[in-house]
Amino acid sequence: MEIKHLTCIECPMGCALEAGVEDGRAVYVKGNSCPRGKMYAENEVVCPMRVITSSVRAADGRMISVKTSAPVKKSEMLEVMKKINAVHPEGRVRLGDVLAAGIADGADLVATDDSPL
Ligand code: SF4
Repeated sequence: MEIKHLTCIECPMGCALEAGVEDGRAVYVKGNSCPRGKMYAENEVVCPMRVITSSVRAADGRMISVKTSAPVKKSEMLEVMKKINAVHPEGRVRLGDVLAAGIADGADLVATDDSPL
């Protein structure tokens, strides 16, 4: 069995986790203070995923902060970042606007701030 040491990133507590991994899945998780930590470790050893936060340049040069609406596989982040860099919204952008639907499997690119003209 492989032992993996992880830091839970689900909340600011940052619990130190230990996961026993066999056949590509977690067979136990220790160190979590709540069920979210166990779920985080179980997912992390199989398919690590992260929400991407970034910014895009609008057609008129404004910088607009954005994020993916759902976590993206870490193995696909580079490809998704290339797609994000190609997004150049026009006109007013409001918090929560979808700037690119389906930018990753199950995730849209959404604005995280208002950006008036
Ligand atoms: S295990 Fe629970 S309390 Fe600990 S960092 Fe993760 S979410 Fe926070």
